[in-house]
Amino acid sequence: MLSTMQDVPLTVTRILHQGMTIHGASQVVTWTGEGEPQRRSFAEVGGRATQLARALRDELGVTGDEPVASLMWNNSEHLEAYLAVPAMGAVLHTLNLRLPPAQLVWIVNHAADRVVIVNGSLLPLLAPLLPQLPTVEHIVVAGAGDRTALDEAVAARTESGAPVRVHAYEELIAGRPTAFGTFDWPELDERSGAAMCYTSGTTGDPKGVVFSHRSIYLHSMQVNMAESMGLTDRDLSLVVVPQFHVMAWGLPHAAFMTGVSMLMPDRFLQPAPLADMIERERPTHAAAVPTIWQGLLAEVTARPRDLTSMARVTIGGSACPPSLMAAYDKLGVRLCHAWGMTETSPLGTTSNPPAGLTAEEEWPYRLSQGRFPAGVEARLAGPGGDLLPWDGESAGELEVRGPWIAGAYYGGAGAEPFRPADKFSEDGWLRTGDVGVIGPDGYLTLTDRAKDVIKSGGEWISSVELENALMAHPDVAEAAVVAVPDDKWGERPLATVVLKDGASTGYAELKEFLAGKIAKWQVPERWSVVPAVPKTSVGKFDKKVIRRQYADGELDVTRL
Ligand code: ADP
Repeated sequence: MLSTMQDVPLTVTRILHQGMTIHGASQVVTWTGEGEPQRRSFAEVGGRATQLARALRDELGVTGDEPVASLMWNNSEHLEAYLAVPAMGAVLHTLNLRLPPAQLVWIVNHAADRVVIVNGSLLPLLAPLLPQLPTVEHIVVAGAGDRTALDEAVAARTESGAPVRVHAYEELIAGRPTAFGTFDWPELDERSGAAMCYTSGTTGDPKGVVFSHRSIYLHSMQVNMAESMGLTDRDLSLVVVPQFHVMAWGLPHAAFMTGVSMLMPDRFLQPAPLADMIERERPTHAAAVPTIWQGLLAEVTARPRDLTSMARVTIGGSACPPSLMAAYDKLGVRLCHAWGMTETSPLGTTSNPPAGLTAEEEWPYRLSQGRFPAGVEARLAGPGGDLLPWDGESAGELEVRGPWIAGAYYGGAGAEPFRPADKFSEDGWLRTGDVGVIGPDGYLTLTDRAKDVIKSGGEWISSVELENALMAHPDVAEAAVVAVPDDKWGERPLATVVLKDGASTGYAELKEFLAGKIAKWQVPERWSVVPAVPKTSVGKFDKKVIRRQYADGELDVTRL
């Protein structure tokens, strides 16, 4: 029997219309560093998105179905692009401004971006790359910045016969109609591309994931569910997780859909301005990776600020150390752990504990990566590919599928999408590369990334478990553990430790500290105190770099 229901496509256009009309009074507050932040209502932002769509089409010839790149911080203009570009039928391509320049060049060329919207403050980053970006024809500059380098690069391009036009964002959109109905938004197939994002390349070449209108719409609804972030128009969400990193975890679209006001930090991501903006604007929610929360904790320990407005904080991107969660509990801020990746839009799990537990019983659930919503099916694959039970003990690689999970990677203009066998199972599930266990009640606990697991004498040692145990020591600021080759055991853990200012704890004491918490054979014998743990472009421990430093003899390693 066919259903008798209407078949209305799920599109970003609907999100735009809903936000700018029904939730027109909600606010986007962008931090400016000094003085008053910039404040715009959703009605204004939607109006400006409508102007942007018209300008892109009429002035830049964007007729839809092409990528429009953004190289921007979290701010109102970036949100306008998040709405306008997909709704007009084009594909927003967010560029990660922290990537090494060579990778950025690779990505822009692979996507064949013709238009780049860039924040003025990032022109010194973009300008020198321009000679290597032959597909780029238009640069739209939002906000102030030094244009000297850009002007020179543009002049060189003109001379070479491949001119680039530069537009000022505000001038480009000015004077155009703002009402939603003044633009003939196309009827879109919900399965068509709306936004694209390249994985940050922690492992190998970046790979493009193209989100559809449908996946963004369904993912936004999930983000808004109480079991996930549970936000409403009474909330102000501090969106620290960059808009250039997995769509800021889907927050901008989810928030615009339900009228959640947003506090955008722009380029002021250091602990001090973050603490200031929290105290002053009093967000009720925030989302960021552990590194950000570590930095903020050190800041407010040194110079206390009131963070208590943040009733809920979503933390993910890498495992949340228990010591960090406990420290924020003491500050009256509840961290809620979430797991995901670029390929999962990214929301995969959130760790709200089941009902009816005491705080003590809740603790292990809060530390787990959380449970899966109905939209994310999960299974664990053992070493031989056999499926493992959800018994909380059998560890395997996590595989997922669902309507907002990638089924392939972008092949390039005109090329077919591709499905590498290490990333997709034969029956189409995404192989996450994350290793862990799932309990009988569906809670996922990750023990490692497959490539970071330490394989010692046929047994696995979890680098994350060792790091968490080390970071619980009062003198340890950060700890990263990697596998290094060992003649006897194949691999053994190397612990690299960053001590807090003024601390001089010895290796023997740290070893002793671990011995009480970790199986004896797992305790590392190789130790190195380092000034800082190397980080990836999105603030995760860069273990590839640590392994290389060790191999090249750059680390001062003590064995005991
Ligand atoms: P990259 O793979 O380049 O780091 P992503 O941002 O897509 O880019 O990272 C996804 C990965 O981050 C996951 O596969 C997982 O290893 C890790 N991750 C994300 N959230 C968590 C979490 N809550 N706990 C542990 N690891 C996490």
